[in-house]
Amino acid sequence: MRITNVRAVQPIGPGSPPDWRTSLGQILVAVDTDRGLTGYGVGGGGAAGVHVVRTVLRDVVLGRSPEPVEYLWQSMYHATLPFGQKGLAIMAQSGVDLALWDLRGKAAGLPVVEILGGRGGASVPVYVTVWDGVTPEQASAHRAFKLHVEQPAGRDAADGVAAAVTQARRAVGDDALLMVDAWMRWDVETTLAVAERIAPFGIEWIEEPLPPDDLAGYARLAEECPLPIAGGEHEFTAAGFAPLIEGRLHQVLQPDVSWCGGLTELLKIYAAAQRAGLRVCPHRGAEIWALHAVAALDDQPLAESGRPWMTWIGGQPAISEGSIKVPEAPGLGVHFDEDALPGVTDPAAWQAK
Ligand SMILES: [Mg+2]
Repeated sequence: MRITNVRAVQPIGPGSPPDWRTSLGQILVAVDTDRGLTGYGVGGGGAAGVHVVRTVLRDVVLGRSPEPVEYLWQSMYHATLPFGQKGLAIMAQSGVDLALWDLRGKAAGLPVVEILGGRGGASVPVYVTVWDGVTPEQASAHRAFKLHVEQPAGRDAADGVAAAVTQARRAVGDDALLMVDAWMRWDVETTLAVAERIAPFGIEWIEEPLPPDDLAGYARLAEECPLPIAGGEHEFTAAGFAPLIEGRLHQVLQPDVSWCGGLTELLKIYAAAQRAGLRVCPHRGAEIWALHAVAALDDQPLAESGRPWMTWIGGQPAISEGSIKVPEAPGLGVHFDEDALPGVTDPAAWQAK
């Protein structure tokens, strides 16, 4: 089997944030072959990501066998090294890598979860991420919740977060899992003050309290914070995760498979984290791109709910009674009507080089 084309586009669905600053520019990548099989993957980087696929990554894999995926990954990584390593280039490569994994499953006639040693149809518990407080509907539909808290760093943060956590704990009850996500807004002192206030509420983790590159700050939190620290959605490749894992700077690692380098890198991150006895809960883990790995690789899986703007992905399973089922169809289980992708105003650009 040979790769005959690699195509990329940025679909903008109903309700989609219109630019990559807010949605981090999800792009759809298709890898076509001479056997008539097409693999699909979602990466990131918006128009810049599409450009990287069309002008660099496509040329690297065109005419080659889609196997071994891991070998193609290395070739693509080297092609973008001078401007890549992290960020947009790796987000774009993630889409190609996932498309190759979709092809791998389709060629084998197996869902990717079974290639990874798991079972198609397996049920995975989901936690729901909420931005504006837990609604009664959410409280009755789910058993695990993560609050996005908007409080900026400073002395008022602890009061504000404690109020949000008090409301949420009342809404979800004592038995539900509850997490807090600061999305890189705080510093060490703010995080310690918040943690002290909310620890009595039974908080599973505090997520991304500091910017990703503040490794010295995370080292202090690993020593002093009474609550586990989660993070990693804005880190890239197994090499980027190595210091977090070796230094035990995060207790819960959260790679995003559509950004961190694809499934090829997610598997390496799982292996390194599990060797170190650390937990992996991928960012957006209930979206179909990561779900196969979450189901196959974790004895006690917990998947994060997907984002509402990803409605254009055909085959995404629904969350029901707090859990989600891994597809049984070959590959990743996705399908697209290529002629009806939302917001693709120039179909010729999507089809052509
Ligand atoms: Mg987060």
